[in-house]
Amino acid sequence: MIEHGLHHVTAIAGPARRNLDFYAQTLGLRLVKRTVNFDDPGTWHLYYGDAAGQPGTLVTFFPWANAAPGRLGAGETREILLRVPAAAIGYWTHRLVEQGVAHELPSRRFGAPVLSLRDRDGLRLALVGIAGAEAEPAWSDGTVPAEHAIRGLHGVSLLLEDVAPTAAVLTDVLGFAAAGQEDGRLRYRTGAALGGVVELEVADSYLPARLGAGSVHHIAFRAADDATQAAMVERLASEHGLQATGQKDRNYFRSVYFREPGGVLFEIATEQPGFAIDEPAETLGAALQLPLVLEPRRAAIEAALPPLV
Ligand code: ZN
Repeated sequence: MIEHGLHHVTAIAGPARRNLDFYAQTLGLRLVKRTVNFDDPGTWHLYYGDAAGQPGTLVTFFPWANAAPGRLGAGETREILLRVPAAAIGYWTHRLVEQGVAHELPSRRFGAPVLSLRDRDGLRLALVGIAGAEAEPAWSDGTVPAEHAIRGLHGVSLLLEDVAPTAAVLTDVLGFAAAGQEDGRLRYRTGAALGGVVELEVADSYLPARLGAGSVHHIAFRAADDATQAAMVERLASEHGLQATGQKDRNYFRSVYFREPGGVLFEIATEQPGFAIDEPAETLGAALQLPLVLEPRRAAIEAALPPLV
């Protein structure tokens, strides 16, 4: 069975050390890869996820120490939804207070308890309490006890001027189906637990978006393999008039990118080969990993990167 859904979400952050502290210490995710932005090797690219860094659990960042703050607007990701067991919402409310994290009071959305919060750059996150998620795998060696730990991505919500063309791409190409609406949010789902939700919200009275620290840069959907990805690219062109980029080798997956009709940058990433390709699963994220093409420049790259600890 082909399992559709999100592969990862990539956002822009301020200082790398603060980003690592928030996601690894405060949220208790595993740093599964420390590498550089392949298109800008003077910049970190930090990947957080579950123990194995499996697709659907990944939140990744390009940290720039002096990034100006972004401003939310139409054609952007509004919120990243993270999956936790329903019974863990109380634990998380307490933890966010204790750690001084900006958050709202718990509310309910589509029948599930939701705790909205901001990371240190103002990035919008929401912990969504899912009944039964306690049975899903979790990183048990982190700062959060496994019973409460984040399981991975639940989904994203997008802020759009016109939701229909985006909905058409979600349902026709990316494997999602309409799954109800509530308070102006249209929900789309796949059969997957991890990363199986996209919510679309109509943006009115927003200033134009400005990308910066605390903004999501792009959203990646998963494809089982190259052939599945190629078929999706073909369908984007033939049915939606959307041209994707050529395939780029991201070392841990292979990607194509396209701007969806609402303006959000989408990526389709293969599930293979995964994060254990260049370091053992037990020590994921422990050392700087570079693609072969950048290895000859390792010393200069290491010297230029801001220290993480
Ligand atoms: Zn990506």
